[in-house]
Amino acid sequence: MISRRDLRGSALTSLDARGLRDALPRAQFDIEAALDVVRPLCEQVRHDGADALRELGERFDKVRPTHLRVPAEVLAAAEAQLDPAIKDALVEAIRRVRIVHAAQAREDVTTQVSDGGSVTERWIPVERVGLYVPGGLAVYPSSVVMNVVPAQVAGVDSVAVASPPQAQNTGEFAGYPHPTILAACSLLGVDEVYAVGGAQAVAMFAYGAREKDGTSVCEPVDLVTGPGNIYVAAAKRLLKGLIGIDAEAGPTEIGILADDTADAEHVAADLISQAEHDNLAASVLVTDSTRLADDVEAALERRARATKHSERVLTALGGPQSAIVLVDDVTAGLRVVDAYGAEHLEIHTANSREDALRVRNAGAIFVGTYSPVSLGDYAAGSNHVLPTGGCACHSSGLSVQSFLKGVHIVDYSRDALAEVADVVVTLANAEDLPAHGEAVTARFERRDEAEAGT
Ligand code: NAD
Repeated sequence: MISRRDLRGSALTSLDARGLRDALPRAQFDIEAALDVVRPLCEQVRHDGADALRELGERFDKVRPTHLRVPAEVLAAAEAQLDPAIKDALVEAIRRVRIVHAAQAREDVTTQVSDGGSVTERWIPVERVGLYVPGGLAVYPSSVVMNVVPAQVAGVDSVAVASPPQAQNTGEFAGYPHPTILAACSLLGVDEVYAVGGAQAVAMFAYGAREKDGTSVCEPVDLVTGPGNIYVAAAKRLLKGLIGIDAEAGPTEIGILADDTADAEHVAADLISQAEHDNLAASVLVTDSTRLADDVEAALERRARATKHSERVLTALGGPQSAIVLVDDVTAGLRVVDAYGAEHLEIHTANSREDALRVRNAGAIFVGTYSPVSLGDYAAGSNHVLPTGGCACHSSGLSVQSFLKGVHIVDYSRDALAEVADVVVTLANAEDLPAHGEAVTARFERRDEAEAGT
């Protein structure tokens, strides 16, 4: 079911960085094709506003939202009717995620560059954000927590959430996102929630949306964050610039680096846990143990057929994005996992703590037998909105920092400017931009003239 790649010996050592990346399993989805799909959808939202959102909801989510913005009483009802066990679990997850994210809060820093010359780095929250919570194949109240908590810790003023309406909802929740998502929003004090999914939600956040008579349904936001499928990722890429975005957090990936000490049942269970998300989800095991590879393969066969979403799991495990990669040793395995840059990376080796510190590229790293990715999906306290598709080599997961902008405040006195004036003038002239230098010398002309008695 899952394929194997043999990167032992010269099969690995003969590859340069690019060659190695190309040799690794990767989802074959075509973001260019998805961009072609979402471009007209985003245009439709820009032109037709709320009408487009209703029409696209009907087309893709098979339900026409009753109200695009979920009324306050529906949010309150969702919280009131939430199963107490789920409520307790959400409250505990929120508590843990808040502890970790509170520790990320940034202090302003003032640096005295010279006597009378200072630069302060001030961290200012983005004013208004749109948070996307997926809800196509599965519903993700956990993604409400992972988006909202860092935005709140950062001090964002205005938080809006969008999630696809669910065709199977009935009664007072008909035409709205899943009630558990609504309840999670209510628990976190978020009262602006939209029954809008996919690319159209990103477009709504970017352009804002109005009814035909001009009534505002949703005001534009400054930044859109959150995970989603390929259409959500494509819309974020398309509209980036008009809005800020976090890293592209598309179909999920798990990489596992394991040696002969690993437990094959744990490894197989974790590979399946992420394959459960999506047909395009990627599960990649990198190991130097053929014994482990054989045992994991056998455990995958058994477990994948027994699990609830076995069809999705089998498709994801059997796809070109999933594989067992054989390497010579853990050091070679580290080269492979760095080249892959997994969204989630588990380390099951004899020295997992030390080996975790040798990794450069991963969205989040899970150490040893008792730190499975699904712990991080819900309740480790870490964030689960993480870069996919190899973006972990340049991007981080969602954090408080994602919602802050650093602004330098430059404050120089006359003497401090005078001290560095020649440097500015020389560099301005070197760039053939003399007016830049004149803006500095102009500050000293009148006093110089006065002192010369003219
Ligand atoms: P989703 O909400 O992302 O997507 C559903 C929406 O996709 C629908 O509302 C619809 O508008 C749109 N859509 C569906 N088919 C379409 C089509 N043919 N053309 C245009 N638009 C279409 O929910 P999902 O599909 O369940 O995907 C969630 C994804 O989020 C999964 O891939 C999961 O792995 C990923 N995820 C990633 C992270 C992360 O941090 N990277 C975290 C959680 C979930």
